Amino acid sequence: MAFYRLCRKTKHICNIATMETRSKYFQQKSDFTTNTAATKRPKKKTLKMEYDNRTEIKQEVATPSKQIKIEPKDEDVEGGDLWYPDYWRLQLNNIQAMREDRSAVVDSQGCERTADKNETPEIQRFQTLVSLMLSSQTKDQVTFAAMGRLKEYGCTPQKLMNSTQEKIGRLIYPVGFWKRKSKYLQETATICNNEFSGDIPNSIKTLTSLPGVGPKMAYICMTAAWGQVDGIGVDTHVHRICNRLQWVQKPTKTPEQTRKALEAWLPRDEWKDINILLVGFGQQTCLPVHPRCVGCLNKDICPASTAHVEMKTRNPKPKIKKETK
Ligand code: SF4
Repeated sequence: MAFYRLCRKTKHICNIATMETRSKYFQQKSDFTTNTAATKRPKKKTLKMEYDNRTEIKQEVATPSKQIKIEPKDEDVEGGDLWYPDYWRLQLNNIQAMREDRSAVVDSQGCERTADKNETPEIQRFQTLVSLMLSSQTKDQVTFAAMGRLKEYGCTPQKLMNSTQEKIGRLIYPVGFWKRKSKYLQETATICNNEFSGDIPNSIKTLTSLPGVGPKMAYICMTAAWGQVDGIGVDTHVHRICNRLQWVQKPTKTPEQTRKALEAWLPRDEWKDINILLVGFGQQTCLPVHPRCVGCLNKDICPASTAHVEMKTRNPKPKIKKETK
């Protein structure tokens, strides 16, 4: 007589007398119980996902409004241990592209453009210095107009040395701090005339020793008047833009701090043009208040960009009225 039973696992009816040999399941089961270690499943290995944050971001920002090929980070290329801001080359290329037409006020009326080309090189250098002295806290248009009046009067060390401060003041008004500047101009003209034979000093140290001449003026003056690049002239525009783009390792409080931070990594062949490039960019696009981020090529790779917020505010999602039944 044959005995049958329902197998709980396989749901098959098995002949009890023969199930040991006939059922594959029980064969395996018996193997399993006798040799657990041999049939143990290998442990799954946890896969470690290592990735480069930078690569991830690059992929995200690979669609700026004007397609520009993203280069590898410059520190990889240059192989140094120096700190470099992320995407600085791409950001700089974008700014150069935006400034291609050189149509900012600084391009036509900046301090480098004010010297009278018909004068001797010494007087041209003096006029460049005077223009720089007038330019602090003053718009380029106002400085340019004041320089026009000064040149008409006679902008030479000898002439200004022999003028009264009141006369100089009347000529340069309404430049910022015109009273103090008229005093500085007369004193500087006297020093240039008496100690430098009518020329201007040719080093940062001597230039900054003149009354009313700071590091920014001195560095720009060395480049514009002497054609010698000793450092980067950092004014309020350069200071602001470098902090917005995070071209400084830590936020800086003064233009002088920004100059040192920028000179620490920016390749030297970019120093000559960087001031006028960023000043014009600051006048046209990266304005002090309400920068025009929506039209800026750096809007997707600038840490200070407000483009996406602006776009949302300009194009809010249409409100859909719920239909009442
Ligand atoms: S995105 Fe805006 S803040 Fe950034 S560089 Fe351009 S204009 Fe300036």
